Amino acid sequence: MQMLRNDTLDPSDARVGTRFWIFPQPPFIPGYEQPDRVWLNILPDEIGDGPSDNLMYVADPLYDKLPYGFGDLPPFEGAKHSPAKPGPDRHFDNMDPKSRSYLGVHAYACTHFVLDIWQSYLGRPVRWFFDETFPRLEIIPFVDWDNAHAGYGFLELGASDIDRTPKPYALNFDTIAHEVGHLILLSETGVPTIASGDEDFFPFSEAFSDIVSLISFLHFDSAVERLLRRTRGNLLLFNELNRFAETSPETQIRIATNSRRMSEVTAEVHDRGLPFVGAVFDTIVELYHRELVANGCADSRLLDVDLRDLKRDQFGQFREATAKTFETKPLYFKLALTTARDLVGQALASSLRTLDPGTLRLDVAAYAAISASDTAATARQFAENFAWREIIRTR
Ligand SMILES: [Zn+2]
Repeated sequence: MQMLRNDTLDPSDARVGTRFWIFPQPPFIPGYEQPDRVWLNILPDEIGDGPSDNLMYVADPLYDKLPYGFGDLPPFEGAKHSPAKPGPDRHFDNMDPKSRSYLGVHAYACTHFVLDIWQSYLGRPVRWFFDETFPRLEIIPFVDWDNAHAGYGFLELGASDIDRTPKPYALNFDTIAHEVGHLILLSETGVPTIASGDEDFFPFSEAFSDIVSLISFLHFDSAVERLLRRTRGNLLLFNELNRFAETSPETQIRIATNSRRMSEVTAEVHDRGLPFVGAVFDTIVELYHRELVANGCADSRLLDVDLRDLKRDQFGQFREATAKTFETKPLYFKLALTTARDLVGQALASSLRTLDPGTLRLDVAAYAAISASDTAATARQFAENFAWREIIRTR
C-alpha cells in the first residue's frame, strides 16, 4: 500500500522557506477568523527561537513595557517571556493562535511577509536605515499603549481597547504592514534631515505606508478571493459600491476608496496623504479593468468612460455583465487583480530611490511613480488619477 506523502515532514520543504500562520485581517473581523498558512522566504535553519534571524528578532517583555521614546532605544534588556520555538519540523505553524507567544510569532511573520513582497518589487534586499547602529529590527509584540509605532531599530505594538477588550496590534496585519511601510520608505529614501516646512515627506510617508498595507494585503490568496467573491468581480467603487467600501471589513479598502482631492484635505499628515492613496487605488482598479478587457472578461467600453461619471443605469449594466462573467471565469479576475496590483507596486517601489526626503512634495512623488511605471498604461492611469486628485496638473 502506498502511504500518502506527509508533506509537513518532507525534508525537501526545508529548501523553499518556512511556514507560518498569518491572519490577513484581525481574527475578530467576521470572515477572517481563520489564519492563512504562508511560506516566508527564509529557510528554517536561518530562523532561531524568538523567532529571530539576521534581520529582526522578537523581544517579548515579561511586564507592561512603556513604548520607546526620545533617548530610549533598543535593545530591550528587561525580563522577557521565553522565546517562541518552532515545531519539530522547524516550522512555526504549530502554535496556538491564542497563546501569548503567538503574538510575537505573528508580528514576526507579518513583518517578513511584507518585506518579502517589497524586496521583490525593489529587486534587492532592504537595508534598514538604522543598520549602522542596530543590525537588526527589534519587534516588541506587546507594550502598554493604545497604539503602534516603528522607529530607529524597533517596531512596537500595543493594543486597541475600543470596547474594553484589548485587541493586540500584533494580530493586526494592517497595522504591522503600515509600520513596516514606514521602515521601508526611510530605508530607501534616507531620513529627512532638514524640514523646509512646505515639504510633504510625512504626508507621503503615511500614504505610502497605507499603500504598502493595501498591496501587501492583496498578496493573500484568501483575501483576493474573498474580495472578488463578495463584489462578484466588480471593484467599481465610485458610485453605489461606495457603500460596500465604507462598511468593508478590510481597513485598507476603507482608507483606499476615499474620494478626497487636495483642495478638500487639511494639513494633518494622514489627511493630506489620502488623495495619494485614493489615486493609487483607482489606478489598481482601472488596470484591473484593462486586464479584464484584455482577457475577454469585460466590455471594452469600460475603458472609454470616466467611471466617476457613470450614471446609475450604465453602472448597473457593467456590474451585471461583470458578475455574469465572474461566475464562469473567476480565475481570470484573480489574475487581472494580481497583475494590476504588481504593476502599481513595482512602480511605487522603483520610484522611491529617486526621491529626496528633504524636499519631497506629493507632486514630485506622483511624477516619480509615473516615470517608474513599467507599462504605458500604468503611467497613463497614474497621471489621470493624480491629476483628478489635484496632486499634479491636468495635462
Ligand atoms: Zn503611519
